[in-house]
Amino acid sequence: TILVTAASGHLGHLVVDALLARGVAAGDIVAGARTVSKAQDLADRGIRVVPLDYDDAASVTTALEGVDRVLLISSSEPGSRFAQHRTVIDAAREAGVAQLVYTSLAHADTVDFVLAPDHKATEEAIAASGVPAVILRNNWYIENHLGDAAAAADTGSFSAVGGDARIAAASRADYAAAAAVVLTEDGHLGQVYELSGDTAVSYDDMAAAFGEALGREVTFVPIDESQLRAGLTAAGLDAGTVEFVTAMQTGIARGVLADADPTLARLIGRPTTPFAEAIRAARAN
Ligand code: NDP
Repeated sequence: TILVTAASGHLGHLVVDALLARGVAAGDIVAGARTVSKAQDLADRGIRVVPLDYDDAASVTTALEGVDRVLLISSSEPGSRFAQHRTVIDAAREAGVAQLVYTSLAHADTVDFVLAPDHKATEEAIAASGVPAVILRNNWYIENHLGDAAAAADTGSFSAVGGDARIAAASRADYAAAAAVVLTEDGHLGQVYELSGDTAVSYDDMAAAFGEALGREVTFVPIDESQLRAGLTAAGLDAGTVEFVTAMQTGIARGVLADADPTLARLIGRPTTPFAEAIRAARAN
């Protein structure tokens, strides 16, 4: 039986879809959800949905009953993530699971990026736990740029801190497909996979992709860090969020997500979904 944590989220839903598509029986999947109502559609499809809150160790232990493989999808709460992940790692060790798969970040062990420390610490805790594991170092999601696509649709342009940004983004569905492969095939234990789109796109490439997806001319307008801060502040974001978003964009501008790696395509057995196609599909949903 395979437990997918954060199954209430976008990636979790797609992993469940991918497991079913690979022939895993609904009865062999457990969907862990903090907000159980957000997984009602999975329950409707015959999947057992269990409450699983990373902040509630007892819920994690109960969710692991009868489970031998676990996908730990990283929490969406930067700052408390490492403690939350450790709760799952400890419970997985106690339960004696055969395989723990974790969704990490590109080059989590070495990269200087605001998102990396939680992932690095989690990877280290998994290694120290001795639980047989596979690390999926996911690069950026193409869907992170839906806001840019919306701006482009409205105004014909979008902005970001430019620099040397190239982003080897892939669609969530492709990362989910890879997770399902690793959860259902032998031979992956102990591996650390750098997963990304087949090509790293620049913001100008992204503008062309938006143009293709939207059927209109789109231009990328580079801004500097102070313009970004001013725009985010004017949009009403609190100071902490402004800092966080600025650190993400300046990291990207330094090239922290620029490495394209063929491993994702190899795992899923096909080229990764092109940027424009993923944007078009996401906007249609
Ligand atoms: P979503 O925002 O769609 O979902 C986040 C999921 O995390 C939800 O299921 C949510 O549960 C769950 N979650 C948050 N806190 C807890 C908690 N305390 N206990 C249990 N579950 C919790 O994100 P995605 O599915 O798109 O992405 C999955 C993860 O990937 C993110 O959480 C983040 O770590 C990472 N990510 C990576 C990106 C990248 O570009 N590589 C971009 C964005 C995210 P619920 O809704 O039930 O409350």
